[in-house]
Amino acid sequence: MFPDLKGKVAVITGASQGIGRGIAIRFGQERMKVVVNYHSNEEMAEMTVKEVQAAGGEAVAVKADVGIEKEIIALMNTAVEAFGGLDVLVNNAGIQTTTPSHELTLDDWHKVMDVNLTGAFVGCRETIKYMLEHDIKGSILNISSVHQKIPKPFHAHYASSKGGLRMLTETLALEYAPRGIRVNTIAPGAIVTPMNEHILSDPRQSQDVLSLIPMNRIGEPEHIASAAAWLTSEEAGYVTGVTLFVDGGMTLYPIFLKG
Ligand code: NAP
Repeated sequence: MFPDLKGKVAVITGASQGIGRGIAIRFGQERMKVVVNYHSNEEMAEMTVKEVQAAGGEAVAVKADVGIEKEIIALMNTAVEAFGGLDVLVNNAGIQTTTPSHELTLDDWHKVMDVNLTGAFVGCRETIKYMLEHDIKGSILNISSVHQKIPKPFHAHYASSKGGLRMLTETLALEYAPRGIRVNTIAPGAIVTPMNEHILSDPRQSQDVLSLIPMNRIGEPEHIASAAAWLTSEEAGYVTGVTLFVDGGMTLYPIFLKG
């Protein structure tokens, strides 16, 4: 637990399920005030709100499509109205589709980029603006992927968005370090969430994934949430511009495991 997090206001995009929900619940355990953003699943978002409250935090669910600039601006304004400030942003919402790159339409490219990268940029911009105006030494986390580093055939848009997120993180981290605003990335490996349950519930595909993970087990949202709590806390107060891979060793070239 990180006592300095108590009472801090956090916006988490895409927190109705999966990794975002896991981070929201952990922030609740840290006694934080959490804005649970969702896109379509209000029922699940309200369940996350209840789980955050049961864990000891405060929470409110706010609908916004992070692919639309004015909805992100409204989301940030609602957070400030609800809890009187803004200390933490977690850009977690992400989508992907599977298409051979030579058949990928510009429409599909833009849909993924708008949510995964442009939405994260707008969220960062609005948050940093607020933090500068109110002299808040805040923290921003961008949830990327091992595919900011490992190429992902049939997912050119997704991998490109995550690679972009890494450079967005590093650029903003450098630009705003003198103002005390930290910006970091968490890059998850294979984590059990609704995004990939169709793969992980299939024994053959699940075995294929396990063969890529030196620790030989699939990760849980709680693993990402622990990293998020630490990176957000003052325990990581001198850390900015990093990518923390939480992937069971997936990015360590598992093919070389036997030397
Ligand atoms: P998930 O289970 O599919 O959940 C996605 C969340 O994003 C949902 O809460 C969804 O809200 C929200 N969302 C989707 N489109 C949105 C939009 N336009 N505006 C606002 N929210 C939107 O995904 P996940 O597995 O938890 O992944 C979370 C993040 O981790 C993503 O950025 C993903 O790329 C990254 N990641 C995941 C893994 C993994 O193995 N799971 C690995 C590497 C990286 P609604 O349900 O309300 O629509």
